[in-house]
Amino acid sequence: MIVNSARFVISNTDVSKCPSEMRHEFAFIGRSNVGKSSLINMLTGQKSLAQTSSTPGKTLLINHFLINDQWYLVDLPGYGYAQRSKEGRKEILRIIKDYILNRAQMTTLFLLIDGRHKPQKIDLEFMDWLGENSIPFAIVFTKLDKLSANAAKHATGAYCAELLERWEELPPVFRTSSVDRRGRAELLDYIDELCKLPLE
Ligand code: GDP
Repeated sequence: MIVNSARFVISNTDVSKCPSEMRHEFAFIGRSNVGKSSLINMLTGQKSLAQTSSTPGKTLLINHFLINDQWYLVDLPGYGYAQRSKEGRKEILRIIKDYILNRAQMTTLFLLIDGRHKPQKIDLEFMDWLGENSIPFAIVFTKLDKLSANAAKHATGAYCAELLERWEELPPVFRTSSVDRRGRAELLDYIDELCKLPLE
């Protein structure tokens, strides 16, 4: 897929106020600082469509971007941000889960995982919750330019092996870097294929 246009449409905290048209929607989520904004900017070819962590006052909103006048890319709030209060973290999870459980047009959720780290409890628990609720998702390893080719292969392989101890099969897995742009074509092609399917 070639991305010809990407524009911000709306931000909100309430799933009932998200755009009402039935378009395919692909949401991106992960722990704060995982590289989500950088990945969204890399995929859309725009420098600052999504606000990076360094942006002061970065909001905790569900952000809708319309891509190619065809599908929505949704930037969900990052979870597990240690500097927020327990109440604040709970509120973010409530917004996220409300969106995921109630958004019929969400075709796939891309769960971003920093490719350098071992599986973290918070991500594993979140994946278990996705599985329990039959939410279609894919794993996107980020920041792989920070590892050598061998180390990246080893780290992501070990991560997947650990997941297979919990599950019978893996979801689709993408290996990316916003710096060297690896994984971009694979991710966009995957979205392109899913966009061809009718929305129920
Ligand atoms: P977010 O909080 O998940 O939206 O994360 P950001 O996109 O703001 O990225 C957090 C930090 O990681 C920033 O300092 C980015 O420059 C850095 N970063 C994000 N993606 C990559 C990547 O693919 N490679 C490298 N080397 N750094 C990255």
